[in-house]
Amino acid sequence: MTAITAVLGDITGQRVDAIVNAANTAMRGGGGVDGAIHRAGGPSILRECIDRFPDGLAAGDAGWTTAGELPARWVIHTVGPNYAAGQRDRSLLQSCYRRSLQIADELGARSVAFPLISAGVYGWPREDAIAAAVDTIAAADTRVAEVRIVAFGRDNYEAVRRRLEGQVGQGPATA
Ligand code: ADP
Repeated sequence: MTAITAVLGDITGQRVDAIVNAANTAMRGGGGVDGAIHRAGGPSILRECIDRFPDGLAAGDAGWTTAGELPARWVIHTVGPNYAAGQRDRSLLQSCYRRSLQIADELGARSVAFPLISAGVYGWPREDAIAAAVDTIAAADTRVAEVRIVAFGRDNYEAVRRRLEGQVGQGPATA
C-alpha cells in the first residue's frame, strides 16, 4: 500500500530516496522544475545524463541518475508529453508515472517525490494533469511506500489535495 500525500513547495528540498524530474527528450536540462533540479543538484547530474542517455529519452519513458548535492539519493528523469506542441496522448502522461515508479522499484527507493509532470511549460490542462498524477500513482503496482506529489503554488496544492480526498473515498468537497 502506497501512502500518497500532497506537499506545497520546492521538490529540490525533499528528503526522499528519489525525486522525479519533468525533463525533456534531449535530457540536457531545461527550464521549470528541470532547471531547478540541475541548479540545486550541481553539474554531476548533467554529466550523468550525457553518459547514461546519449540519445535522450522518448516521451512517456524514464531513467535515473544520482542526485548530486540534493538531499535525495536519485533523480528519476521522465519526459512528459508536450501538450502545447500537440502531444495529447494521455497514456504517455500516465506512462511517466508508471515508468518512474518501476525505476524506483529497480533502485529500491521507498519514498519518491513527483512534480506535476507536463503541467507547466508543456501546458497539460491543470485539473487533468492532477487527475492523471493521482489516479495513476494510486493504481500502480509498486513497492514504493511513500509518494509525495509536490505542488509549486497553493492552487495546485489544493487541487491535488481535493483529488487525493476523492481517492480515499471521502468524496470531493461540495461547493
Ligand atoms: P513541463 O515542461 O513538464 O510542463 P515544468 O517544469 O514547466 O514541466 O512544470 C511542471 C510542474 O512543475 C508545474 O506545475 C510547475 O509549476 C512545477 N514546478 C516548477 N518548479 C518546481 C519546483 N522547483 N518544485 C516543484 N514543482 C515545480
